[in-house]
Amino acid sequence: MKFCSACGHPVTRRIPDGDTLPRAVCDACNTIHYVNPKVIVGCVPEWEDGRVLMCRRDIEPRRGKWTFPAGFLEIGETSGEGAARETREESMAEVEMGEVFCVFNVPRIHQVYLLHRARLLRPDFGPTPESSEVCLMREDEIPWDEIAFPTVWHGLRYFFADRAAGRPGFRSMDI
Ligand code: ZN
Repeated sequence: MKFCSACGHPVTRRIPDGDTLPRAVCDACNTIHYVNPKVIVGCVPEWEDGRVLMCRRDIEPRRGKWTFPAGFLEIGETSGEGAARETREESMAEVEMGEVFCVFNVPRIHQVYLLHRARLLRPDFGPTPESSEVCLMREDEIPWDEIAFPTVWHGLRYFFADRAAGRPGFRSMDI
């Protein structure tokens, strides 16, 4: 950031009084511009036969690779609302949102992931501007070598491991 988004004056980078980290500070209007990590929300929608909904990305990054529905949380949303919205945007599917089953911290790229379990309400879904293919996959059909992001890979592993164990678990992991 070079200019204050409140008044347009150039900002300087310094540690504000009483703070511990350097921030972009506006010396004209005294606004301190905090930058914090992004929250990414997603879900693993499960159909009644045990298959899960997967999307082939049609947008960069990782176009052509596979993921469950996930994306940036918007202002004013809960994590469950955001994950349901992403599911509609990426697959046109409607889900009943379940509990968060894993948290990933990815401090290197300033991201925190919250992944929910979800129940697919109807087998109605299809490609969208964000996904070239959307389909239900059994665990043994998951293309593990073609998964878009490490968080998606680990999230799916946890999901299936918990299901095989017959009890819902919760995990957190730093990637
Ligand atoms: Zn300013």
